Amino acid sequence: MTRRVVSAVKVGKSFGPLQVLTEVSLDVHLGEVVCIIGPSGSGKTTFLRCINQLESISAGALWVDGELTGYRRVGDALHPLSEREILRQRRSTGMVFQRFHLFPHLTALGNIIEGPARILKRPMAQVREEGMALLERVGLADKANAYPAQLSGGQQQRVAIARALAMQPKLILFDEPTSALDTELVGEVLQVMRDLARSGMTMIVVTHELKFAAEVADRVVFMDAGRILEEAPPSALLYQPQHDRTKRFLSSFA
Ligand code: ADP
Repeated sequence: MTRRVVSAVKVGKSFGPLQVLTEVSLDVHLGEVVCIIGPSGSGKTTFLRCINQLESISAGALWVDGELTGYRRVGDALHPLSEREILRQRRSTGMVFQRFHLFPHLTALGNIIEGPARILKRPMAQVREEGMALLERVGLADKANAYPAQLSGGQQQRVAIARALAMQPKLILFDEPTSALDTELVGEVLQVMRDLARSGMTMIVVTHELKFAAEVADRVVFMDAGRILEEAPPSALLYQPQHDRTKRFLSSFA
């Protein structure tokens, strides 16, 4: 059995009286690609944000890269971690957002090397060399000195992926990475993600790109109203769904 990079056990999340996640349990193993699909408002983004500790969970437990997130166990008691400890834990996880979130005042290369240089305090020459190699990997070696405003949405998203990779994460979370892009730019971003998946990166991808999920995912998870309704390899979940709710959701794509 390969190592679990994420293990969620009955995770719950509420915003005030609004329960957004209910008993969400999911294991993701090293090198796996898991796609999460489901209707808008079903809690997909919130679940990713909990894994990355941008939100704290209200119930259950969540392990990332072998560590219980947010808490330290002392005997039978759980003590909340300090902000500093949470920042350290968060480094094992990269996140790629729907709307890129690049720093507008930094070049493509500047965006990529900011984390390794400033947060990891690694030597600048090495960080720049690795940054250039990452730009090459996402097909943007010639855009190192371009600012985000000078790049297309697809190019910005590829820089965002390179920036996530620069921190050498154990896992990358993608939150609808192509949904803000014009149709003709979707393919180039999916291609970079496909290459990343083939390279063995562990990935959780919230997406409406069912063709991508069918081709790249090891497993597809269907969420509805804050719960995981079913999970299965793509061939089963996308083509022979068990739940009526999943069938209805999938038929809306036909
Ligand atoms: P999805 O990604 O599946 O579209 P989300 O996780 O974005 O779903 O949202 C799930 C529900 O949680 C929605 O009803 C949304 O309005 C609510 N929600 C998300 N973030 C917050 C927040 N910070 N405060 C209050 N409600 C939130």
